[in-house]
Amino acid sequence: MKLAERVNRVSPSLTLAIDAKAKAMKAEGLDICSFSAGEPDFDTPAHIVHAAKAALDQGKTRYGPAAGEPKLRSAIAQKLQRDNQLCYSPENILVTNGGKQSLFNLMMAMIEPGDEVLIPAPYWVSYPEMVKLAGGTPIIIPTTVDARFKVTPEQLREAVTPQTRMLIFNSPSNPTGMVYTPDEVRAIAEVVVEQNIWVVADEIYEKILYDGAQHLSIGAVGPEIFERTVVSSGFAKTYAMTGWRVGFLAGPVPVIKAATRLQSHSTSNVCTFAQYGAIAAYESSQDCVAEMRSAFAERRAFMLEQFNQMKGLTCPSPEGAFYMFPSIAEVGMASMEFCDTLLETYNVAAVPGIAFGADSCIRLSYATDMTTIQEGLNRLATLLKDLA
Ligand code: PLP
Repeated sequence: MKLAERVNRVSPSLTLAIDAKAKAMKAEGLDICSFSAGEPDFDTPAHIVHAAKAALDQGKTRYGPAAGEPKLRSAIAQKLQRDNQLCYSPENILVTNGGKQSLFNLMMAMIEPGDEVLIPAPYWVSYPEMVKLAGGTPIIIPTTVDARFKVTPEQLREAVTPQTRMLIFNSPSNPTGMVYTPDEVRAIAEVVVEQNIWVVADEIYEKILYDGAQHLSIGAVGPEIFERTVVSSGFAKTYAMTGWRVGFLAGPVPVIKAATRLQSHSTSNVCTFAQYGAIAAYESSQDCVAEMRSAFAERRAFMLEQFNQMKGLTCPSPEGAFYMFPSIAEVGMASMEFCDTLLETYNVAAVPGIAFGADSCIRLSYATDMTTIQEGLNRLATLLKDLA
């Protein structure tokens, strides 16, 4: 069958493939310990659910403005001002179907054939594919475990060409959990301004921080960087709202207007009553965020302690998100082969690093219960012993 050429430009998702395999094995009755989830294992906090139910009862069931409910755009602008020192008004905000659609809309609005987009690796799986779909060229900048998977200002400068349009900057990072320090953020901002490019700051994990790590929004570094920054974020990770599909894009008005125009001809507004849940998320107590963070922190500490006792793994301690990204370089196996063996023989699902542009690593999500974590790590330790 003849399909559009653009379909061939994108690779199928390896993360979904491993997840599907693990689920099929579970359905066959096998006891699988899964570390593959990219979503919090908690229920959405009750007050957010109630707000959406109340919105349904009040008839918030119709089409709304493509850019989002005015009340939500205003709540997002206030949040960005309050938490991130970013001076936006509602017209700088587009409410999207999750952070994924906000990034997609942005690429479609700003990237053209011939444009290069800088993507430090390890990266979130969808970045290069979205750039390719928009006709652009992803330029992958590899980083190392020793550099704590962070790109340096020198690396960025070297990667810039006359075709460079944008840098994708994700901190805290999926898949590494690394958080750039405020000084590191300032140094990256300096290069972006000096090289006259744009930066899209994917800040979807900004509230999931440990060990006193601080998140500085790159756009807050100064007026020059602010003008060339677009923020992409959402409610999925912070408020356990993955299925609600609410996210946003924040940036200069012409960018937001362009992305809104595209969205108005594709998905239109985000589910109206879901937006009322999102308003409650920002306008109510943030205790639920602290509670989820402390559960993640406990699991993270346990995993780090276990990793330290395993031979064959090197894992820099992540300061954010809910992922561990240990290197398996010492084992001498490619990440796909390692994860296949781990799943098929030891019944543990982890995501091969190759999906994120780092074939010597694997990703383990700790958005799962302690019992699964304990049992899964025992099995991982057994595999490493068997391979030694
Ligand atoms: N950005 C990163 C780094 C992510 O890990 C994800 C989800 O896994 C997203 C964006 C998109 O999240 P959502 O579309 O669920 O809001």
